[in-house]
Amino acid sequence: MRIDIISVFPEFFEALHVSLLGKAISKGLLDIHTHNLRDWTHDVHHSVDDTPIGGGAGMVMKPEVWAQCLDEILHLEPTNSTHTENEQTNFLANQHCESGEQNPTSSDNQQERPILIFPNPSAPLFTQQAATELSTASHLVFGCGRYEGYDARIPEYYRSQGVKVYEFSIGDYVLNGGEVATGVMLEAITRLIPGFMGNPDSIVEESYTGSNALLEHKQYTRPTSWRGIDVPEILLSGHHANIARYRRDVALEQTSVIRPDLIEKLHCSELDKADRKKLRSLGWEVSSQHPRKLK
Ligand code: SAM
Repeated sequence: MRIDIISVFPEFFEALHVSLLGKAISKGLLDIHTHNLRDWTHDVHHSVDDTPIGGGAGMVMKPEVWAQCLDEILHLEPTNSTHTENEQTNFLANQHCESGEQNPTSSDNQQERPILIFPNPSAPLFTQQAATELSTASHLVFGCGRYEGYDARIPEYYRSQGVKVYEFSIGDYVLNGGEVATGVMLEAITRLIPGFMGNPDSIVEESYTGSNALLEHKQYTRPTSWRGIDVPEILLSGHHANIARYRRDVALEQTSVIRPDLIEKLHCSELDKADRKKLRSLGWEVSSQHPRKLK
């Protein structure tokens, strides 16, 4: 996978060369290129921002600097022509799957074309599902915002040029810039690329993973008793089926308390008898399409 990252602080991404990401780069699984947005400025101050039109605090990233940089990276010619409003509306509609979440790689040949991603706190949430779908792409381009963010016409323009553009928030809080958010998304996406993890099984049963996603069960290692706290006895039994059931029950329990929204998304038809029994004991009704919390 080729990854281009555009930022006014490209040195931030030197940290990518450590740990598993670093190994993936040396193995040739990832080809990461960082770019300083200021290299596309033409004024003596290398300015990338200007005051907000309409007034207000802070500065907004200018569209033309971004466009000159993105045109070069995406190999596009500058143009003033955009699709009609209708085409644009349809294009945007296609980006959203039923749940309202963005569905990054759903269209034909999507894997072959660069996908442009802008971290943005006022965008839909980046999820494991988005990470999974983006992990099959061959080229991702991340544009890191700063200040009050970037001019809203930038994603609009590139969508109108047929580029797949996604804006994602990594959580309900505001960071100073898109660099950390890009790092978060990059790590979540790339660890799903075949060959990235030493043991591919370690990403199979994880939190948020799969069609009936839950939070993962609790994990323990040796010693079996530590500072007066014992690991659950069943985990020492060697009885694989019982251990699996125990872990599944813990996952259901934790998810029910911490992330009931994930339980509400489960498909009851994919739950086994023991799952249903556990969920009923946790106060969920499981006879409809999705579980429903009983008052
Ligand atoms: N004025 C913006 C707002 O209130 O929504 C906040 C801009 S923030 C200070 C500057 C940049 O940081 C954004 O353009 C984005 O690239 C990045 N950023 C901040 N918080 C983020 C989040 N939760 N998720 C993704 N990107 C974020």
